Amino acid sequence: MKEIYLDNAATSKTPEAVILAMDEYYRDYRANVHRGMYTSAERATDAFESARADVAKFIGGAANEVFFVKNATEGLNFLANSLTANLKPGDEIVISLMEHHANLVPWQMAARRHGLVLKFIPLAQDFCLDLVAAGNLIGPKTKIVAVTQASNVLGTVNDVRALADLAHAAGALMVVDGAQSVPHLPVSVGALDCDFLVFSAHKMWGPTGVGAVWGRAELLEKLEPWQYGGGMIIEVTTEQATWDEVPGRFEAGTPNIAGAIGFGAAVRELAKYGMSRFVEEEKALTTYALEKLAAVEGLMIIGPASSENRLGVFSFTLAGLHPHDIVTLLDREGVAVRGGHHCAMPLLTSLGLQAVTRASFYVGTSQADVDALVAGLGKVKKMFA
Ligand code: PMP
Repeated sequence: MKEIYLDNAATSKTPEAVILAMDEYYRDYRANVHRGMYTSAERATDAFESARADVAKFIGGAANEVFFVKNATEGLNFLANSLTANLKPGDEIVISLMEHHANLVPWQMAARRHGLVLKFIPLAQDFCLDLVAAGNLIGPKTKIVAVTQASNVLGTVNDVRALADLAHAAGALMVVDGAQSVPHLPVSVGALDCDFLVFSAHKMWGPTGVGAVWGRAELLEKLEPWQYGGGMIIEVTTEQATWDEVPGRFEAGTPNIAGAIGFGAAVRELAKYGMSRFVEEEKALTTYALEKLAAVEGLMIIGPASSENRLGVFSFTLAGLHPHDIVTLLDREGVAVRGGHHCAMPLLTSLGLQAVTRASFYVGTSQADVDALVAGLGKVKKMFA
């Protein structure tokens, strides 16, 4: 039985072109980057730097504004450490109640270290962020606003541009968690007017173990490197060291070369497919899924009820059934979904929930997949009737 994979918000599948690009590096020209002056090393460096340029282009940024990290979590930890280093007790950081733990715990820890105040933008009735409340929370003491562009639980797409405007009007920096949005939407850092954007390759056809941070060049210039060693220095004496240009100074040690090359191939594949085309397809499928799921008796969708400003991510509860039972029984029907708190415990707690079941789409998910999910849920219900 072929598995119907509806856990794309956790990680996507890998297209052939991405596997081939990494395979080619390992087989034909494996060498370290930025060091050797022989043919394979130069080819590896070119491929690595082309990947950086392609990833940057995918989000409308410049190559010198992007550095590779191991995932969105690492990027957000870097920002939470670096951007708060010089903040004073009482300074405020504003995030939202729908953040993934990756964009919450690092700020919580930074707040504890520096005596900062962490504030949360609440949700409105429609599972979108309450922008009026955001306007009241963001003020002269706010130094950083860090919000996800799309929720991995609710599917909500937030108006990040409006939040960036509020942040900038208050003199604060805008950090965007793009882990869910960059894989699904044509994202442009210029249009968002954000200062930093973080995302992972593995949710957008790329390999695991690599992600990216985009930052405004003038801001990256001012940030301290966070790890020290080879590949990020210009000159070292026994007393001190000077740093390489950005973005290289943020990539200490041998990077995930194959991963970056795979990431580059993934964004080229997505660009070839067409992000606008995917947006249209996902919207149509979301409308279809919302209708089909609404018809399942006892099922409640935890997220926006319309396909506007929403991704194909559907968290739900099914009366009387625990998500772990639903997931296990759906698996027997060949449908892979995820159950649990989805790394957003404060969000679930605020909604009076402990766990939800989540089905999530990506390029290639079809109406037949949605039908299989709905039929599977029908069987699960019968088993417990
Ligand atoms: N933010 C959001 C909104 C996410 O969905 C995820 C992944 N579940 C992350 C951050 C963290 O991504 P990663 O696990 O790739 O570091």
